[in-house]
Amino acid sequence: MADQLAVPPVLSANYAYFFDLDGTLAEIKPRPDQVFIPTGVLTLLKRLAEMNQGAVALVSGRSMKELDAIASPLHFPLAGVHGAQRRDFQDKTHEIALPEEQVKQMELELIAALDPLKGTELEAKGMAFALHYRQAVHHEEAIFALAKAMEEKYPNLALQPGKCVVELKPRGINKGAAVEAFMQEPPFCGRKPVFLGDDLTDEAGFKVVNRLDGVSVKVGIGATQAQYRLESVADVHQWLENITDHQQQEEMALTNRRDGYESLSRSI
Ligand SMILES: [Mg+2]
Repeated sequence: MADQLAVPPVLSANYAYFFDLDGTLAEIKPRPDQVFIPTGVLTLLKRLAEMNQGAVALVSGRSMKELDAIASPLHFPLAGVHGAQRRDFQDKTHEIALPEEQVKQMELELIAALDPLKGTELEAKGMAFALHYRQAVHHEEAIFALAKAMEEKYPNLALQPGKCVVELKPRGINKGAAVEAFMQEPPFCGRKPVFLGDDLTDEAGFKVVNRLDGVSVKVGIGATQAQYRLESVADVHQWLENITDHQQQEEMALTNRRDGYESLSRSI
């Protein structure tokens, strides 16, 4: 079936950029700790942030600690754990936590339940849990049943499926709400949001961006609410290069016009 979604346009200034990490800025690897953003792409992100008053943020299911490590040496505004953690442009952290006792209890229950499911992995994020099964896809059904049972037992949790992962996170937390929170604050407010993501969890971001008249971009195959599609992580990198080049040229043209005007006024 032919894909109806076009590639996103080359954007000029006045946008605010939100990027998912895994499968969007970085290739997915067999293990989450093998994932990295190529140095050249970090340089493009830095240029993009500089040209847009810092309106570039990462919005991911990973913890902010991991995001900082992967984006190092850059220091972006971040939404981690799907927005349960958020660091704004002023470096202030906003966190939505679950009761400590509940987290302890859940961790014990999940460790015990995953023990017989060889190849699955529990990632405890403090206020959320990720149940990974990339190395054991035959356990998918058991993982979903377990997550569903936990969601029923703890009504303040919501289940979030992803690629070879099911997450349990505080109810009401999603990437769309994180983008909305950023869009209330400088340097994001007053701009149009752009959101790129590859997974089911990114759909909440697309929805908010569409409502705010922004640019939503699905990376890879699959049904989506996004307006545009890029086929691969490599295509995301190329698009990033195109928009940074385009914006730099626009800036240079503006500077040249200004300089021309100034020398003209001097000569009069
Ligand atoms: Mg992703």
